[in-house]
Amino acid sequence: MDLILLGPPGAGKGTQAKKMIDALHIPQISTGDILRAAVKDGTAMGLEAKKFMDAGQLVPDSVVIGIIDERLKEDDCAKGFILDGFPRTVDQAASLTEMLDKAGRKIDHVISIDVPDSDLMARLTGRWMCTCGASFHKLFNPSKVDGICDLCGAKLYQRDDDKEAAISVRLVNYHNQTAPLIDYYGAKKVLRSIPGTGTPDEIYAAIMAVVNG
Ligand code: AMP
Repeated sequence: MDLILLGPPGAGKGTQAKKMIDALHIPQISTGDILRAAVKDGTAMGLEAKKFMDAGQLVPDSVVIGIIDERLKEDDCAKGFILDGFPRTVDQAASLTEMLDKAGRKIDHVISIDVPDSDLMARLTGRWMCTCGASFHKLFNPSKVDGICDLCGAKLYQRDDDKEAAISVRLVNYHNQTAPLIDYYGAKKVLRSIPGTGTPDEIYAAIMAVVNG
């Protein structure tokens, strides 16, 4: 089962992918998570990516395409994968099609989680993260003690790209560079759109209906 979760930043792709892993027994592949790990480790790729990420800009296609090319060859992807945050441009999608063709594979479903821009700003500015990997939300999933991680007690931080100025850039980039993928995958007859405005459980049920469909 080769799946892509498509949607604007803040649509809940990461949250849904994490719920799907257990049900489907295939890995989530998040280019955002991979890039953040590279930034944290201070690798050359991380240092290059950081300046784009902090500004809310997309990291160059050549970098992320290379990441995915390597990652999809790993053993845990043999039975499928859930791509979260990739592809984000038509060039990335075309490269993915080429990689999968070479491996004799194809995308089964592209699930587009639709959320209006007006909801996304509130969702993204409310997100607070912990270095342990936990994530909280001031409105939807607050930590028990404000600013402190429930799991490990560390101080929560806001991603630089979840600050308002960077979010505006991310939303403009989404509409200019990523939304065209809706037509790209629509033409390939693998696109299914679901509303992303319900509760996480409702959105999950809609995704699983597509996957099991
Ligand atoms: P995310 O966690 O998916 O919102 O990604 C965080 C940031 O990582 C994005 O704002 C981009 O700067 C970068 N990034 C993640 N995935 C990609 C991608 N497929 N192409 C380009 N940049 C990406």
